[in-house]
Amino acid sequence: MTICSNCLDEFPDKEMYIVGKPMMWESDEVGYYTPFCKDCTMKDKEAYIKIIKEPQPPKKRKTTKKKK
Ligand SMILES: [Zn+2]
Repeated sequence: MTICSNCLDEFPDKEMYIVGKPMMWESDEVGYYTPFCKDCTMKDKEAYIKIIKEPQPPKKRKTTKKKK
């Protein structure tokens, strides 16, 4: 589980977003990365600069991996 740094609830790791936040208040530069839940990425857009990583959809992809 991962704790959202905004609402402090716990979520499954695979559902977490990683967002970039400024090191200093009102800075436009990403200073560090922190986990955010989906709700917070949508509701608190001003709490972070940008989304660094989105959770992967749980679909199985057809890739080059072959099952035997
Ligand atoms: Zn949250």
